[in-house]
Amino acid sequence: MDDMPSQSSPLNQDLIQSLKDLLGEKGWTDDQEIISPHTSDWRGNFVGHSDFMVSPSTTEEVSEVMKLCHRYGQPVCPQGGNTGLVNGGIAYGEIVLSMARMNNVRSIDTFNNSLVAEAGCILANVHTAADEQDRYFPLSLGSQGSCTIGGLISTNAGGVAVLRYGMMRDLLLGMEVVTANGEIWSALRGLRKDNTGYDLKHLFCGAEGTLGIVTAATLKLFPKPKTATAWLTLETPQKAVELLSLVRKHAGDSVTGFEILPKVGVELAAREIDAVRDPLPNEAPWRILLEVSLASEDHAQDVLQTVLEKALEDSLITDGVVAASLSQAEMFWHVRESLPLVKRGFLTSVNHDISVPVSKVPQFLETTEAAMKEMVPDVEIFAFGHLGDGNIHYGVAERTDAENPTVKAKSLDITFKVHQIVTDLGGSISAEHGVGLLKRDELPDHKSETELNMMRSIKKALDPENLMNPGRVISVR
Ligand SMILES: Cc1cc2nc3c(=O)[nH]c(=O)nc-3n(C[C@H](O)[C@H](O)[C@H](O)COP(=O)(O)OP(=O)(O)OC[C@H]3O[C@@H](n4cnc5c(N)ncnc54)[C@H](O)[C@@H]3O)c2cc1C
Repeated sequence: MDDMPSQSSPLNQDLIQSLKDLLGEKGWTDDQEIISPHTSDWRGNFVGHSDFMVSPSTTEEVSEVMKLCHRYGQPVCPQGGNTGLVNGGIAYGEIVLSMARMNNVRSIDTFNNSLVAEAGCILANVHTAADEQDRYFPLSLGSQGSCTIGGLISTNAGGVAVLRYGMMRDLLLGMEVVTANGEIWSALRGLRKDNTGYDLKHLFCGAEGTLGIVTAATLKLFPKPKTATAWLTLETPQKAVELLSLVRKHAGDSVTGFEILPKVGVELAAREIDAVRDPLPNEAPWRILLEVSLASEDHAQDVLQTVLEKALEDSLITDGVVAASLSQAEMFWHVRESLPLVKRGFLTSVNHDISVPVSKVPQFLETTEAAMKEMVPDVEIFAFGHLGDGNIHYGVAERTDAENPTVKAKSLDITFKVHQIVTDLGGSISAEHGVGLLKRDELPDHKSETELNMMRSIKKALDPENLMNPGRVISVR
């Protein structure tokens, strides 16, 4: 944590008084009962500290906050919904800059199919705002009741519809940012074409708060899709990859979701979480949740029915069912969304968020499982996720009552090995969660010096005083 502020260095009291005067009572707190939920993550894995939190309510206030912090050389840690998974939004001595009060949808343009949302807007509320105008914002993930537009942009979040609509980066038409020295850059125009030089919004997307504060964004909207959803069971990940190819043959680019789940994971979810049950409880070790979006629901249902029959005929699946109603489809998705939440009760696990080319997912799973069996006597592999994007959330687990508990003690070796296999297969050690502090020190093993130097140059150019989330993603010292 070399270039991060010391947890014990006191804050400048002139700065604190100026921030209080600027923001008024609703805009700041030094109450540890209020601050502490913001300085630890939802799993309790990372616990930081901050003496002061600001919650500006307008872009102009964010700008004034940053001007003051710049004048006093005070680092800040921006935060949205605090659902990030890589220790990027937890303060370690910095002032917490919460975006929670900037939560307005500023405008919707149905002819341009675009929506301008402030950074603190919760994703589920953006879904509702789009829905009320008969439009659709497609980014969808398990944390959507808490995560914010600013956090989603800053982590370039993925989720369950990337196959059809892309990552957050692909859904951006414009952005408003406050820079490290407090200037406001506003480019919310919502243009689909604009080739007037560097596309700066893409720098701030995925920067994890290290380059500036995202205060608002213009997002792409779509016509509401007509979907059909199926739950399939199958023997191997290789058959799943072949199944994806078959679905694409019939549905083209209309495949919205293609999620893989292990039988063992669904069983654990069913034991721990309300209203979760395996829709097809049979012995096959894998399940696929498949969604297609087409012009009409009937057409989508017909396509899935055809795929299902063909897949059975070709022995790609052992069984399958197309959801007969919206509530049944929601039940299938509930099972999927429960998976990230189940591990704590039953297992100790070391988790990874990796991607490899889709065609190499079976090889990744096979090679890594063999390697893990050598390292951990009673290993249980808990692998699930966005197979259609080659993105697997790979948990190396053991029961909490394992006879020879090994996973915790060997966690660094386990991660090193998993990431080495990923790199050998041409993959990425962070598919969608980002780098934060969790993976920062691993980057040099997976990126060239040239690439790291370009990243450092960008950071130094936009934040020369190193005030924006210092030490996260890339160290400049
Ligand atoms: C149950 C669960 C399921 C999840 N599923 C997925 C998934 O499928 N796909 C996926 O990609 N992620 C997933 N995540 C991770 C997480 O939800 C995303 O990373 C999300 O984008 C974080 O948004 P947030 O508002 O909570 O950001 P935070 O956690 O508050 O912050 C994340 C990072 O962004 C920075 N930041 C936040 N707001 C701003 C801003 N306005 N300006 C500048 N920097 C800012 C922070 O400093 C931090 O570095 C999941 C998390 C949970 C808990």
